[in-house]
Amino acid sequence: MNKLIELFKANRFTTISWGVTALLVVALLGSAVWWTQAGSASPATRLEPTARPDQNLPSVSMPAVATSSASSPTIPRQLQLKTIIPTDEPRLHPISYTTQGGDGLQGIAQDFNLKPNSILYSNKIPYDDPMNLKPGDVLTIPPIDGILYKWQDGDTLQKIADKFKAKPDDILNFPGNDIDLTNPQIKTGTVVMIPGGKRELIDYTPNLPTNSRVNNGSTGTSDFAGNSSCPGVVGPVDNSFGFPTLQHWISGNDYTPTHLGIDLAANANDPISAAAAGIVTMAQGGYNYGYGNVVEIDNGNGYLTVYAHLNSYTVSPCEIVQRGAIIGYAGATGNATGAHLHFEIRRNGANVNPHDYGL
Ligand SMILES: [Zn+2]
Repeated sequence: MNKLIELFKANRFTTISWGVTALLVVALLGSAVWWTQAGSASPATRLEPTARPDQNLPSVSMPAVATSSASSPTIPRQLQLKTIIPTDEPRLHPISYTTQGGDGLQGIAQDFNLKPNSILYSNKIPYDDPMNLKPGDVLTIPPIDGILYKWQDGDTLQKIADKFKAKPDDILNFPGNDIDLTNPQIKTGTVVMIPGGKRELIDYTPNLPTNSRVNNGSTGTSDFAGNSSCPGVVGPVDNSFGFPTLQHWISGNDYTPTHLGIDLAANANDPISAAAAGIVTMAQGGYNYGYGNVVEIDNGNGYLTVYAHLNSYTVSPCEIVQRGAIIGYAGATGNATGAHLHFEIRRNGANVNPHDYGL
């Protein structure tokens, strides 16, 4: 026994460490056994069959299939076979657009996300005047704002960029132009997009009289009241007159003190055009004291022209028309026997003889 005590004394630390180790092992084993037993005791982890072979499958009611009957509204959807290409994808090439009745330049430009001038630049609209757009006109719509230009012999990027106040790099880099950047050659005849390019537009403000045309329409000799109030609008001046009809001869009454105009030959529905540029001051259906469907244009400098007995008219008050623009179609409305155009020129409120003005 003494030997044992001596041995213990000699190896005190070894013996204590072994003892502690043995205690730790027992404690760990004990807690592991306790944890396993506690876990297996939990019913949530016990796997159970949902149905035994002798049981029927649980029956669950499915959502009703929608029918087209009114009692169950459905949203019809078409089978989509194609990938939808986003419409806001940038366009690279010009496209054609045929104008519809009621189209205005502003609206067309908006539809294509362009400035109105970009459409004027790339099209030959008479006088660059959007009022001269007619339904059925085919417009070239550039892909982006700027101007389309057909490349000519001898053109250089710098020259054309300068001409249209644009940057050569913008022309080079516009992807729709397909220019090889390593060898930037453009073939004659190629239509090139000049991004941001612009050209002079015909500006008729220099031709405008400074006085407003308000209250200029009631002209005295004829007893229908002219409606010429186009507030804030002034018209171009044009003192020379062309024939408003296709035929250039008098088919009825000539200019006399009792017939203050000339009856020009016209077949029913022949186009009638403005004898001079101006502003429409009246476009009116009805009997109109015998004039029938009538258009009156203020041509500036005190001149008005009147177009009577029309079958129909295609302009509206305050519209600006250019010389030769179709304003309506010949007929025999009002006090007329047979289709013709009753045409008058008035100056400062008095009728004048059209024959004195080249007709
Ligand atoms: Zn007449």
